[in-house]
Amino acid sequence: MIEGYPEIPKTIGELKAAPQIPDWSAMRESWDWDDVWEELDTPDGLINKAYECIDRHADGARANKAAIIWQSASNEIETYTYSDMKKQTNKVANALKSIGIEKGERVFLLADRIPELYFSCFGILKIGAIMAPLFSAFGPEPIKDRIDRAEGCTVITTPKLLPKINAIRDQLPSLRNVIVINHREGGDVADSDISYSSIVDPASEEFEIEKTGAEDWSVMHFTSGTTGLPKGAAHVHSAIVSQYATGKYVLDFNDDDIYWCTADPGWVTGTSYGMFAPFSNGVTSVIDEGGFGAKRWYEVVQNHKVTVWYTAPTAIRLLMRSGAKVAREHDLSSLRYVMSVGEPLNPEGVVWGIEAFDLPIHDNWWQTETGAIMCANYPSMPIRPGSMGRPFPGVHVTVVDDEGNEIAEAETEGALVVKPGWPSQFRTYWNDQERYDSRFINGWYYTGDRAKMDADGYIWFLGRDDDVINTAGHLVSPFEVESALIEHEAVAEAGVIGKPDEVAMEVVKAFVTLSDGFEESPELLRALNRHCRTRLGPAVAPREIAVIDILPKTRSGKIMRRLLKARELGLDEGDTSTLEDD
Ligand code: AMP
Repeated sequence: MIEGYPEIPKTIGELKAAPQIPDWSAMRESWDWDDVWEELDTPDGLINKAYECIDRHADGARANKAAIIWQSASNEIETYTYSDMKKQTNKVANALKSIGIEKGERVFLLADRIPELYFSCFGILKIGAIMAPLFSAFGPEPIKDRIDRAEGCTVITTPKLLPKINAIRDQLPSLRNVIVINHREGGDVADSDISYSSIVDPASEEFEIEKTGAEDWSVMHFTSGTTGLPKGAAHVHSAIVSQYATGKYVLDFNDDDIYWCTADPGWVTGTSYGMFAPFSNGVTSVIDEGGFGAKRWYEVVQNHKVTVWYTAPTAIRLLMRSGAKVAREHDLSSLRYVMSVGEPLNPEGVVWGIEAFDLPIHDNWWQTETGAIMCANYPSMPIRPGSMGRPFPGVHVTVVDDEGNEIAEAETEGALVVKPGWPSQFRTYWNDQERYDSRFINGWYYTGDRAKMDADGYIWFLGRDDDVINTAGHLVSPFEVESALIEHEAVAEAGVIGKPDEVAMEVVKAFVTLSDGFEESPELLRALNRHCRTRLGPAVAPREIAVIDILPKTRSGKIMRRLLKARELGLDEGDTSTLEDD
């Protein structure tokens, strides 16, 4: 326990619904993944995420139930029932087939949170193609690297975001189709592109879903490593089994819940928990196209009577900044359960929930590669503020020592690992099987995180094992930023670190040395900033750039980011004997 933050008993934030996990230990003992398969509809072992999420409900009792309540950035509301979703996704599936997209091909999505993004996602899955979403705040460079790595054949985008694709199109030989969702923003679609409405409007509302099995590819999300370009973590259709189960048991869904996941579908939380978990459980999801704003967010909860809310620590810290009073000025009494993921949630954040909405915030942990939540603070279990909770029943998450042995002693730091074999485990890094294999050692999947476990099995996050930067819950590869910087003629070398930040946990900070003939000046720094923002986009570009004379390096020339970070933070530089050494 963290001093000053005692365990929060269950009586605080009294549950308004009986928890789906009444007894975690008993459920853990008796867990059988086959029981979850039974709850889904998988005739002859066939399984398709779109069927489990949409058609299963549309063909049954939930046909007229709202799947999506969409609020546009300018506050128009559109509601789509499960039956509407089936028709719209069938139309997209037919449209994609009509332009020759085949099973297994990679189709990218680059759009803000508009209904067509959701229709397209499931239309892609219905034809058995691989759905690969991109964050709309990426610049052309990260978009190019990701499409290129996956040899994407198609991008579905909007007029507003199209210039980013046009900037890189000639560098992407695999890209055959650019589909533009033109009917909301209006405007003409160029001859080189395909208008969404021109192929979707005339398409039939009937479609027979491609016969996909458990191990057929479904979704690819990109994640960042310390070295090399982003990796495409590829998932299969049976991932829905984990996503459905964690929706039911961690998000604690009841049939009458109104659920809001604030994550953007460009990142894995926005698909696993913005689409797959809620739709497979048949609940109603609120989707807000607008950006963050404390008042706006409270109004969304108030106006749509949100009951279950899944958000992120950076957002919670921003809400904290605006004060609990703002929350109290709204009627948030519909809320029964609030969760957070993506970065460590400080204990102050957990407890602040009580001050603002009479509900503590439940932290949980997972990552792109795991596809679904691996450990959590459950509604039925006391919260230990600062801890990510206990393993999901049916998943073996633990900490191991340097030899890969499970650490028996409580409170001892080790590598956070998972026993392979859960349904939503990623199956490869696209075109990089070697890197995938390197994550599995001694029968464990190594997550890249460090953690400890207390005597009662609660897991506490201690940090990452690598230099990957976590800014506002989004992982950024220092390599990707360094590569963009050195493309600028003034930059000789670059080293990039995550600098601690009160709100975003970390922000990207770059150190550069200058090429001969260039001198530091405010104009040069502005030009570098512009260069990064244009190429990388605001989600990845460095917040700070500093010019230095020399970058610390190993003998083989590897930039020592850890030393840069220690210097930045004024910390002991530690053992520098490896400086100029490997
Ligand atoms: P991503 O693959 O982009 O979803 O990022 C996953 C990484 O974010 C994890 O490996 C952790 O480093 C971090 N992370 C996610 N959730 C938490 C959490 N609840 N507490 C601490 N770190 C987290």
